[in-house]
Amino acid sequence: MIANLIGGKWSQPFGRESLPVFNPATGEVIDQVPLSGEREVALAVESAAKAYPSWSASSVGERTQMMFRYKALLEAHVEELAAIVTRHHGKTLDEARGEVRRGVEVVDFACGAPTLLQGRTLRAVTRDVDQDYYRYPLGVVAGITPFNFPVMIPLWMFPLAIMAGNTFVLKPSERTPLGAMRLAELFAEAGFPEGVLNLVHGARETVDVLLTHPAVSAVSFVGSEPVARYVYQKAASNGKRVQAAGGAKNHIFVMPDADLSLALPAILNSAFGNAGERCLAGSVAVAVGEASKVLVERLAEETRKLRVGPGDQSAVDIGPLIREEHRRRVLSHIERGVSEGARPVVDGRDRAYLTGPGFFLGPTILAQVTPAMAVAREEIFGPVLSVTSAAQLKEAIAQANRVEFGNMATIFTDSGKSAREFREGIEAGMVGVNVGVAQPFAFYPFSGWKGSFYGDLHIHGTDGVDFYTRKKVVVSRW
Ligand code: NAD
Repeated sequence: MIANLIGGKWSQPFGRESLPVFNPATGEVIDQVPLSGEREVALAVESAAKAYPSWSASSVGERTQMMFRYKALLEAHVEELAAIVTRHHGKTLDEARGEVRRGVEVVDFACGAPTLLQGRTLRAVTRDVDQDYYRYPLGVVAGITPFNFPVMIPLWMFPLAIMAGNTFVLKPSERTPLGAMRLAELFAEAGFPEGVLNLVHGARETVDVLLTHPAVSAVSFVGSEPVARYVYQKAASNGKRVQAAGGAKNHIFVMPDADLSLALPAILNSAFGNAGERCLAGSVAVAVGEASKVLVERLAEETRKLRVGPGDQSAVDIGPLIREEHRRRVLSHIERGVSEGARPVVDGRDRAYLTGPGFFLGPTILAQVTPAMAVAREEIFGPVLSVTSAAQLKEAIAQANRVEFGNMATIFTDSGKSAREFREGIEAGMVGVNVGVAQPFAFYPFSGWKGSFYGDLHIHGTDGVDFYTRKKVVVSRW
């Protein structure tokens, strides 16, 4: 059974309740994750609270030097971290390497603390009076992360929070807890003091203790929409600062003037990369005008070439889904789509995967989807692309804006005018033009809108710095 990290010591929880951790490519159980209760969470929070006075008093220079050491250690362990991700998440090694790199990028950003943590000054705001603001940390921050990026998403949170002078309790996904374990070991190796980063494993009961514990000042959450909403409400009603990123239903618009040699591989990667288990996955392709004459066939032709298999094998494009229950859920979405009139032009259910070991599902393209169908509105989180059509861009934008989510939308076009009309009209916080996945780099906020985000300040970028600090304004006359 894997251990919690509390006050610099790895320890087993008091209770014996646990869940299996699988290798989704083989269906084998590779470890057990404990379900920590109130006592362990309290100990982890207390250890973070105990480390806070001295950590928050450390100099920005000292913290930055440690963060540079952490960055170097992460760089030296990219392959190892990627292998851990593939082993218990299932994604291909290339995707896992990409995930680790995008996580390290946030550490790079956090190394900019000497600039990021600066305040502001206005001398002579009135005669002989100066005004300044300083940034201060908040205290103990809790981070709760989803299964789909076991290394990247924890790295969205704790490096920046800790650089700002906070201490941290991380609750990784119970389905993919192993990436965070290795991140925490390397963090200690970089020289960060005991108790600055703590790790408690568990599921919803563990989260509930964090959301109500009086010593937790702020909560960073990433996960599904209903849980994001719940976490936002519960933590806020307990007086905490909260950022809660939720689910998605991302639309990809293909205009008649799109360069399909660029668009097709980008759409495939967006829809089927990470087996579709990505909050930035393209889930609905909208063929606009004449594009509808060719899009489905061209997508289908390319999709049939994709290879499904274990993520650690070369020449595999799509790894398994996270669990058997999740595969069943994705299958039921496909079945519902077909029963509502969608046509499966590429059918992932036809393949032999469903009977073999591992939680595989082939890529699926559903054509003749209408905006009213569930497959056009609900998050599926699997390798399923629904294709709808719209006579004009305006109608396509209206289709996308009707869904409850607003994470990402992207357009393929050769026209600056169309790109601008799209950017102005679309109700999504991450917008792409001629890219399949509009993921902001770490120096920009991860900006979901509508049901894709609850809160005010988004994760990472300067929003992250603002979220993890509070400002003190000083007005002085000498
Ligand atoms: P999830 O909501 O099931 O779990 C996320 C975290 O919340 C886990 O740590 C889990 O233990 C905890 N949790 C689950 N149910 C809970 C409950 N009832 N009360 C309190 N805590 C609970 O999400 P998941 O399946 O692990 O991840 C996939 C989801 O995350 C998708 O919906 C995806 O779109 C979303 N996601 C969003 C972003 C984003 O930035 N917007 C990024 C990645 C994933």
